[in-house]
Amino acid sequence: ARAQAMEIDASPQVTYTDIGGIDDQVREVREAVEDPLTNPALFEEVGVEPPSGVLLHGPPGTGKTMLAKAVANETDATFIKMAGSELVRKFIGEGSRLVRDLFDLAAEREPAVIFIDEIDAVASKRTDSKTSGDAEVQRTMMQLLSEMDGFDERGEIRIIAATNRFDMLDEAILRPGRFDRLIEVPKPGHEGREQILEIHTRDMNVADDVDFGELVSDIDEYSGADLASLATEAGMFAIRDDRTEVRRSDFDDAHEKLEDSDTQTTIPGP
Ligand code: ATP
Repeated sequence: ARAQAMEIDASPQVTYTDIGGIDDQVREVREAVEDPLTNPALFEEVGVEPPSGVLLHGPPGTGKTMLAKAVANETDATFIKMAGSELVRKFIGEGSRLVRDLFDLAAEREPAVIFIDEIDAVASKRTDSKTSGDAEVQRTMMQLLSEMDGFDERGEIRIIAATNRFDMLDEAILRPGRFDRLIEVPKPGHEGREQILEIHTRDMNVADDVDFGELVSDIDEYSGADLASLATEAGMFAIRDDRTEVRRSDFDDAHEKLEDSDTQTTIPGP
């Protein structure tokens, strides 16, 4: 039953070429996670400890999970994902037990990349209230920190966490030996959006009247996830119109549809 809280993927399919617009972040993650896994001797020779944990922070849908999966793929490591919110449990000791299970599982499946999404759920700044719920969350976080303190940085387990709320994090988890490599993953700029849209349409039959550079110039609020939806929706409009070719107008319709659904979700219902 406990395994249900975790997502285990023995060979994730995401590659670095699927990730657009965040080349610097890809390079940093590779240095911090991939090199210690594939070439531990180098770190030994140079005499430096690789970073213990990597923390990816930035808005939703910018590619943080993709990055963690791609690095697991590249190193032939098992990808083990746990949502921080899953670690917040009702019964005393349950959260800490899950954390132990997570690290035990990783040890069984070495090499492994542990990915903890929404780390803020268990590692927010201490609140003043002394309710038992908070105390339990604290214990879970302490367990996580002690697992991290206990494992060998040069070993076959790497740990990556992600958050959309960097400002809320308890500084205890950012200390040396813990999540000591911070990588910001921002929303893409113009060129990044163009790259991402190209990635998500590479299997599509796109008409000549589509100019991605122009298309992305007035959607600067779009994340990678939004751009993926834009491509899918545009394809759906073509299908609805019985065409196999996706045109400029399909992207415009898709854009309009996404804008509409955006406003619908932000306006509270009656
Ligand atoms: P969250 O913080 O909400 O968990 P995230 O940053 O982990 O989000 P992902 O789960 O990696 O975001 O991205 C969701 C989807 O959006 C991906 O499966 C992909 O289709 C698309 N996507 C996001 N960022 C990128 C990117 N940089 N390049 C290509 N596709 C992207």
